[in-house]
Amino acid sequence: MQVNATLINLYHVCKRECWLHANGIRFEHTSDLVYEGKLIHEESYPQRPERYEELEIDGIKIDFYDARSKVVHEIKKSDKIEEAHRWQVKYYIYVLERNGVEGVTGILEYPTLRQTEKVELTDNDREQIKNMEKDIETLITSDTCPPVINSKICKNCSYYEFCYIIE
Ligand code: SF4
Repeated sequence: MQVNATLINLYHVCKRECWLHANGIRFEHTSDLVYEGKLIHEESYPQRPERYEELEIDGIKIDFYDARSKVVHEIKKSDKIEEAHRWQVKYYIYVLERNGVEGVTGILEYPTLRQTEKVELTDNDREQIKNMEKDIETLITSDTCPPVINSKICKNCSYYEFCYIIE
């Protein structure tokens, strides 16, 4: 599986989740939280698909791109894992740049909190993303699944039962 924005996000949340997702072990469809997140995505801005484009570039899907103002919009259920969200949007900007689209910025939107955050890509971010891509490739092609992280975020993870009950 090639590195994409979801893996960039998961890499910051939990290396084990990143490995499981990349290796085809998925439980998102059974998770109420993931379903709730999808609903917020679809219901918060029902008019969005008409106003903004859905893009697929280098096999990476960007749900809401405003081509006129060159802004990537990403909607999130909460701001609990902000750093991972920021990197996901930075990665979208990075991929657009890699394909010759300059001057792109991002906006993270948290409808339930009524908050937005502007996201920009710096030179330092570009260097970090190159390193992340290498790290993620090494991580997901490893035969060994990383250990559980025993974090409070685990209870809200779609892999919770797999990590703590099944294993
Ligand atoms: S339950 Fe915890 S350890 Fe398991 S994948 Fe999710 S975040 Fe990682």
